[in-house]
Amino acid sequence: MQQASLVPLTVGAPPVSRPSWLGLSQAEQERWLTETAGQPKFRRKQIEKWIFQQRASDFGQMTDLPQALRERLAAEFSLFTGQVVKHQVSRDGTEKLLIEYPAVGRHGPGRIECVLIREKLRRTICVSSQVGCGMGCVFCASGLDGVDRSLQVNEILEQMLRITALLPPDERLSHIVMMGMGEPLANLGQVLPALEVASSDLGLGISPRRITISTVGLPKSIDRLLAVGKRYQLAISLHAPTDALRNQIVPTNDKVGIAAIMEAADRFKAETGRRLTFEYVLLGGVNDTLEAAEDLAELLAGRDALLNLIPYNPVAGLPYVTPSGTAVARFRQVLEDRGVVVKCRQRKGDDIDAACGQLRRVVAAAPIDSEGAALAAAGPGSVAVDPDRAPLS
Ligand code: SAH
Repeated sequence: MQQASLVPLTVGAPPVSRPSWLGLSQAEQERWLTETAGQPKFRRKQIEKWIFQQRASDFGQMTDLPQALRERLAAEFSLFTGQVVKHQVSRDGTEKLLIEYPAVGRHGPGRIECVLIREKLRRTICVSSQVGCGMGCVFCASGLDGVDRSLQVNEILEQMLRITALLPPDERLSHIVMMGMGEPLANLGQVLPALEVASSDLGLGISPRRITISTVGLPKSIDRLLAVGKRYQLAISLHAPTDALRNQIVPTNDKVGIAAIMEAADRFKAETGRRLTFEYVLLGGVNDTLEAAEDLAELLAGRDALLNLIPYNPVAGLPYVTPSGTAVARFRQVLEDRGVVVKCRQRKGDDIDAACGQLRRVVAAAPIDSEGAALAAAGPGSVAVDPDRAPLS
């Protein structure tokens, strides 16, 4: 297996200010092609195929388009607007990109993370939906500074394309999890069109069954998602079985409450037929007690649900601890004895700070240029410095 390393990737390409082609809806793309560029409508599909299937990273590569069209597209649009600030490769094959997107309106440039997780035949991307996060879960790195802004459709798609580009030509992304930075249900207006492209045949062709939207639990938005009629998988970050405990861990809970979340989850299950997933980050001494396990079993027993137990991935500066293997096993046993289906999520990319929001914090203080220069000097594929985080802190 590869050593954890810091690899430069397209270092130096500055973000461009031209609008992204990926930010246009299908109708807008067709209108521009027919009305502005005087081209037939089918050019849109040609372009889409180049981007999503042939992994073109600029319009010049789209050789079956007329030269003049390629030039006009390149003059008026960009494909990618972000800049890869850091690319890390974990010993276990997990890869992580830190991307900086340019300023939008009153918001300055914003950094987000996306992760490629390799597991047997699966190639999963963990996608960010916002710069930062407004939910404030007490153990999570993403929300420590609140939310800056929501990502745009093209910025969400760009993550998928840049991660796809890390795969060899005979591999493709098989799964998407909206589990990176941000709350996807607080940005459905941009997340849904991006997932529409990701799940379409001309796009990435990933079945909605293999696309999971993870949420802190916002009942109205769960209903909105349901109304769209696409059968995505829903994962709810529960983290506690009672309101008293959840209020301490998930600040949004005191205005919502577990009962309303479970009702929305049940409606989602009833209408989509999709088995629900509940995520539960185990925080040593906080929510990993036998009492919590009993209460959780009570809440989930009888529901067709999968419980994903996630041992806490430590975040620098936060007081929480990962429970011992014995504590995790004991917690799990209580639930399994009561018939709950439990999975314990394998930790991936520990050596590259792959839990959401972590990398961004570690490099927050470092300017792109000097980092890029340092990485470039180290040479592609070389281990720049000590594999873990020495160069970043
Ligand atoms: N806002 C959404 C999606 C982003 S977080 C949500 O709350 O679901 C994705 C998952 O990672 C959530 O279950 C979250 O609780 C978990 N997570 C965040 N920080 C973590 C950490 N330090 N260790 C383990 N899991 C973490």
